[in-house]
Amino acid sequence: MGTQTPNYADLAKQHGSIYSIHESDASFLPPEIMRIKNAVGAELVKGQPYASAYGDAIASVGVNEPNKIEINNPAKFAKGAAQTIAHETTHLWQNQLPGPIQKAIPLDNPNHPYDLSNIDQLRAQGRTLATLPHEQAAFIVQSYTADPAQRKRLQPWIDDLNKTPLSVEMPTPPNAKGIISQIRPPTPPIQAYQSPAELKTQAAALQQKFAQSGLAPQEKHIPPITAKPISPIPAQPANALNKHANPEDQPPQVSLAFNKNWSKPGPYAAKLAPQEETEFRKWAAANPQSVKGEVGPAPNFDPLPMADYDVRAHFHASKIGDPAATLVPNKWDGKLHGNDKFKTPYNGGFSNESMYALPNAPRWVGNRLMTHDGKLVTDETPRK
Ligand SMILES: [Zn+2]
Repeated sequence: MGTQTPNYADLAKQHGSIYSIHESDASFLPPEIMRIKNAVGAELVKGQPYASAYGDAIASVGVNEPNKIEINNPAKFAKGAAQTIAHETTHLWQNQLPGPIQKAIPLDNPNHPYDLSNIDQLRAQGRTLATLPHEQAAFIVQSYTADPAQRKRLQPWIDDLNKTPLSVEMPTPPNAKGIISQIRPPTPPIQAYQSPAELKTQAAALQQKFAQSGLAPQEKHIPPITAKPISPIPAQPANALNKHANPEDQPPQVSLAFNKNWSKPGPYAAKLAPQEETEFRKWAAANPQSVKGEVGPAPNFDPLPMADYDVRAHFHASKIGDPAATLVPNKWDGKLHGNDKFKTPYNGGFSNESMYALPNAPRWVGNRLMTHDGKLVTDETPRK
């Protein structure tokens, strides 16, 4: 990445992401960024082309902008959407930090705003993500998202995102003394309504999924979701995704990105009639293993935003005698699994048999799940 004549004043107008680095197939939006994205109600909007001294911006966030990410170059954006969203969401987070923290953010290095070569030294000096220059911090989160090889080195900075107080209600202007705690008016996405505790639980559940898929280092500080001990996961190389791994273990965003072109629009959570909802909650309380990872805590058992299986639709099907509600032994692990009918697009094994699929979704050909243009999604031929 070459640098051109710097123009700090220009960059200061908007925080742009200029570079797209190679985005690994194993890229995903870290749960810490999802939390920020949901809490601030981040919105992607179409922007005008924006030329900065470093090159044309792919996307940008205005100074003090609380929640809008402008897409300035849609074609480039499409090549590395996850990393660009991660970069720009970091700017939204910076814009909503408590005022005194925002004021203390150092200026970008005008010659090399995206240079990460000194960050280990800065960490040793006690700096955190909130006390790095705007672009350096954003590029750390962008690199973490795009490049699994960097995640171990960059993890402490990502952890900082969860340690910072943040208004999950109204934006905090830079001159505020603390964070704003006024209620944010209802806006989609629904995750914005979640309490910090619920968001934390969701982030922990996602971290666990990532860790199990070998994409993220095991997190010691994330509390386990259930009281049951979690068996240690053998370390896997990050690029093992989808080679010999069960695609159902891949992060939900990865599956959604793969499945979005053949999915009906969401939400992917059936609503039950009040009486049946009461029965469902009773059943869920008695069968925690059957709803684990798909619904939130008792007593409401609300569907998790990225649930990969619609357990309420399954429950309803069993009530009305739908044969699809019968659990079948899975070819992958021999355990009883639910029918494809209730898989959501967040599921790596999503097929045209799902109630949420469009006709062009991948279909099973024997033990192989194939896309409509003949690419193998997964091969569940029994192995020894
Ligand atoms: Zn930026």
